[in-house]
Amino acid sequence: MKHVHSGKVRDLYETDDGLLLMVASDRISAFDHVLQPDIPDKGAVLTQLSLWWFDQLKDIVPNHVVAPGDEARAVLCRPLRMVQVECVARGYLAGGGLSEYRAGGAVSGVPLPEGLKDGSRLPEPIFTPSTKAPQGEHDEPIPYERVVEEIGAETAAELRRITLAVYTRGAQIAAERGIILADTKIELGWDADGVLTLGDEVLTPDSSRFWPADEWRPGRSQPSFDKQYVRDWLLSPESGWDKSSGNPPPRLPDHVVERTRQRYLEAYERLTGAPFSG
Ligand code: ATP
Ligand code: MG
Repeated sequence: MKHVHSGKVRDLYETDDGLLLMVASDRISAFDHVLQPDIPDKGAVLTQLSLWWFDQLKDIVPNHVVAPGDEARAVLCRPLRMVQVECVARGYLAGGGLSEYRAGGAVSGVPLPEGLKDGSRLPEPIFTPSTKAPQGEHDEPIPYERVVEEIGAETAAELRRITLAVYTRGAQIAAERGIILADTKIELGWDADGVLTLGDEVLTPDSSRFWPADEWRPGRSQPSFDKQYVRDWLLSPESGWDKSSGNPPPRLPDHVVERTRQRYLEAYERLTGAPFSG
């Protein structure tokens, strides 16, 4: 197999029959740095959770999955021509959306009411696209009109429709399990027949913010089933790391690795309702 791409988290290979093998590693990144050490089982959890979600979403949008791989972390997919837009839907205010709102009262050009706090629920889910930055650079939020200029009104409308539909279905299923889906990012591409198809990973803790519903308190950062625990530790005095120093972050201590692994496993088990078997 030919190696075609390595991102911060995943490696892509081309098979002899022109398919893609996408392998999710156990690497974890935060603040644009890949951290040490790996989080055991993370890759398998993300791949298995994505496979489960693709199935829950298949009446909304076709997906790139051909078959599960030989390893739990791998999946065989159809190659897509990826749309160069990161499709984000937000139902709650957090992360980059919160910073944008604080700076200008809007997110990706969508104006929002005054008085919203960290973790506030939005009046309705919104589509907040961003650029797909080259490796090492930050994705930049872009207004919907920019998406229209770049890929045309018809495709832009499709991206928005599909992204919001995926968010709504995901949020509804998560809510039944006591989990808030605060936001999510999906990636779409055209298949060989020109059909917009869901690629990459979907509704994982790496691409989404999942919050335990019973602990949701707007006005502070929310406990979350993703790498929030890692981010909080990196920013705490215990890590001794200065984010603005340009230095790489310190190695994660065992308790942070174990706690983070537990969070990923818990997300899988609560969402799918099945034990994780790797
Ligand atoms: P990073 O996440 O580190 O910023 P990245 O997104 O390029 O960089 P990964 O997420 O690790 O890296 O790798 C997955 C890559 O594969 C992404 O570039 C994604 O757009 C691409 N991809 C996902 N599914 C498909 C597909 N079916 N066909 C072609 N490319 C795909
Ligand atoms: Mg990626």
